[in-house]
Amino acid sequence: MNYTTEFRDPELAALQLEAIRRTVANHSGVMTLMEVCGTHTMAIYQHGIRALLPKNIRLISGPGCPVCVTPIDYVDHAVALARRPNTIITTFGDMLRVPGSSSSLMREQARGATIKIVYSPLDAVAIAAKNRAQDVVFLGVGFETTTPTVAGAILTAARQGLKNFFVLGSHKTMPAPMAALIGDPQLQVDGYLCPAHVSAIIGSDAYLPLVNQYQVAAVITGFEPLDVLQGVLMLARQIVSGKMQVENQYRRVVHPEGNPKARDILYQVFEPCAARWRGIGDIPDSGLRMRPEYAAFNAVVQLPVEVEAPREHPGCQCGEILKGKISPQDCPLFRTVCTPEEPVGACMVSSEGTCAAEYKYGTD
Ligand code: SF4
Ligand code: SF4
Repeated sequence: MNYTTEFRDPELAALQLEAIRRTVANHSGVMTLMEVCGTHTMAIYQHGIRALLPKNIRLISGPGCPVCVTPIDYVDHAVALARRPNTIITTFGDMLRVPGSSSSLMREQARGATIKIVYSPLDAVAIAAKNRAQDVVFLGVGFETTTPTVAGAILTAARQGLKNFFVLGSHKTMPAPMAALIGDPQLQVDGYLCPAHVSAIIGSDAYLPLVNQYQVAAVITGFEPLDVLQGVLMLARQIVSGKMQVENQYRRVVHPEGNPKARDILYQVFEPCAARWRGIGDIPDSGLRMRPEYAAFNAVVQLPVEVEAPREHPGCQCGEILKGKISPQDCPLFRTVCTPEEPVGACMVSSEGTCAAEYKYGTD
């Protein structure tokens, strides 16, 4: 499949934009659409999609970046574990620079902590197998896309009889935060561009209760410019017609039932729980915790540490960014104090973060 020619064709994009314009031409008021996926956020900034849309479509970014939505006390917990003697922290790269209350993993690394970047949770298991005299902690941060691989790593460690592999989990699920944001009168979301990779696991049917209960439009869409534009068009048509439903623009990847095998592995090791989202707070049934029978791999249970009381940077507006209430330009620290080199908040760190996207591609 040639993505450049097939999904970035400017003539087709112009046709889709024209169709969007015609669809919303007589729509009174502003239609608010929220994308809930970090890669959509990047694609929208990268291709300047926001600026191309009619003025009565407001496209806002939501809590779609797993690193950004991870609360500061998790970072503090990871920092406390990194300070523990005889401990190796393993993590995806983005977590390294996320600021905690008084430190970050990168600072701890500079002070002598052993922190290794891995590309898969199985890499962390391999590190544990090679370093049996040390405790190896994997930082499990992510949505349903990542969590099956963490579950697989825990099952592998169990099979190998490893006693020194642990996971510090902050696993989140969709679509609970989408339901939580829909009741916010300041936002008034009319339609969601649903997260694409997550949908490949949970399936398009997972959004039916959300749509039925809240009468909100929902479209699962891919990451290329034509995918996003078509997703916007499908949302606009639903909203104008008043017929809200779950539509799947990304059928080449997402199926109604999702990926049951991945979910089986996931739920073998994890169970649903309430979770805290940065900026949004506690949301019931929006997280995953390790089942008690896997407590031997739970860093919280096995490696108790004292964690400092959480203190957010007073000027950081990440919470408001993640709720879609402000854009990065509204944060007084954006570009001045807060930059990708010296991030103040998580939204400037992750490659999927809204502030990082705006910094890289500018206001469109
Ligand atoms: S993991 Fe995939 S679906 Fe989830 S936010 Fe990132 S890009 Fe979007
Ligand atoms: S610009 Fe920096 S400080 Fe401001 S909201 Fe974004 S990440 Fe937080």
